Amino acid sequence: MSTKISIFGGAGEIGMNMYLYESESVAFLVDCGVKFADNSYPGIDMIIPDWDYLKSIKDKLRAIILTHGHEDHIGGVPYLLEDFDLEVYGGNLTIKLLEYKFYERKIKVLTNVVKDKDVINVGDFQIEFVSVTHSIQDTFGLFITNNDLKLLHISDYKMDQAPVNGKPFDVHRFMEIGKKGVTALLSDSTNVVNDGLTPSESSIYNDLLDVFLQANGRVFFTTFSSNLDRIKQVVEICEQIGRKIVVDGSSVTKSVKIGRELGLLNIKQDTLISLQEAKKLDDDKVCFIISGCQGEVNSTLYKIASNERKMLKAKEGDLFIISARVIPGNELNLNNTINKLYYYGAKVVDIEEKKIHVSGHASKEEAKLMLNFIRPKYLIPIHGEYRHLKTHIELLKEVNYDVETEGIFAEDGEILVFEGEKLVGQDNFESKRKYIDARGEFVLTEEDLKLKKNLARDGIVIIQDFGKEFSLETVGFTLNKEDENRLRYFIDENMGVVDLSRDELLVNIVRRFFKKRFDKRPVVKYLI
Ligand SMILES: [Zn+2]
Repeated sequence: MSTKISIFGGAGEIGMNMYLYESESVAFLVDCGVKFADNSYPGIDMIIPDWDYLKSIKDKLRAIILTHGHEDHIGGVPYLLEDFDLEVYGGNLTIKLLEYKFYERKIKVLTNVVKDKDVINVGDFQIEFVSVTHSIQDTFGLFITNNDLKLLHISDYKMDQAPVNGKPFDVHRFMEIGKKGVTALLSDSTNVVNDGLTPSESSIYNDLLDVFLQANGRVFFTTFSSNLDRIKQVVEICEQIGRKIVVDGSSVTKSVKIGRELGLLNIKQDTLISLQEAKKLDDDKVCFIISGCQGEVNSTLYKIASNERKMLKAKEGDLFIISARVIPGNELNLNNTINKLYYYGAKVVDIEEKKIHVSGHASKEEAKLMLNFIRPKYLIPIHGEYRHLKTHIELLKEVNYDVETEGIFAEDGEILVFEGEKLVGQDNFESKRKYIDARGEFVLTEEDLKLKKNLARDGIVIIQDFGKEFSLETVGFTLNKEDENRLRYFIDENMGVVDLSRDELLVNIVRRFFKKRFDKRPVVKYLI
């Protein structure tokens, strides 16, 4: 009986998590997330795995199981479900967040809400949901069994012993799972390069309170919108010190609404006020909880900083609290945003200055504890860049228990093949990506992106063919007369040399000219 795990995304980068579990008769996915695009992807907002390979196993692919509601785990699900009809399983909050996405993309999907200790069967696989602590509620590890094979897939976790909501990380439960004899542990590597233990979410309360107490004017607070535990602490502080709250920004408004519906966020009725009501109050009686902790375009923070909001402008005395780590790739945007706020006389407090953010991922000592609880035959590090995955394997040298654990390095595009409880091979499939332009809702292929990059860097050359004559036009740069003559001469010299149709030949020659003369690859268009 062979079982395969194929890695579509998440091993070799932070983001785009997607794993396929496959037996001879059935298959299911764990997570389908996005990766946020940085400035090197012109016009692209998000990147998702290319799941073309799944079409070949369409008949046995049954379900997608979601570990939690972060974008790097659920952001690609609506796109996936446009291609495949799958059963969807996830925690309460995860499913609520997804339902908003389904609504926005106008797709109808039947969802299954699971809770801690639930067990489901997908063909010959049995999957148990195991609660873990993270920076969002309803996060699960998955204990996946298929006959003798026992796999523990814990994507994101930390061992929070004093979470703001819910129960502490259940150490005993993981020791029990360890005693069952786990074949492979697939586990979070994001923070394994950090020493010690990741502090508890509740540990930031006092520093956060201090920052609020020092503010004399309006306070604007921003964090990851899905972090309801962070928002809950801010609500408590505001109710304690007598500030009313305005929630502004679509992601945070949605999150607060869901949090209240699910009972994860209790806000007194008179605490929440509108923007108009806030204008009637003294500045030191108001707190705005806003979107935009990464300086995202269109977020409230970005719009205030860019002076795009008529009713909400930054001014002297305002304090902006950014309670989040900046995700690599967003540094420039956020820095520009902060500078604009200072221009208008506001001040900004971020995590460089005060301990107002903690990570949701396990540090080195927690990763070692996890290894000790589980004592698996194989450790397969996931959720990390190469340095995180390799460091995770290195940790095995520091834990010395009586079971020999083998560290397995695997990256996107790899297939791990198990026969019974033995890992018998590592194979590969072509791992590609798709690129999403969120405003247009366009999904671009690798080839589209290549063209787009050429376009951004090297512009366009348009050949308008009139039969014997042709004109040349450039977009994005200007060709001087001398070079245009050179190009025309080069075309004359090469026409008829290769056996191609006139249009193909012209395009081919123009491309060669730009490559040879300038080492550039403009997009060349032929028009009749
Ligand atoms: Zn997460």
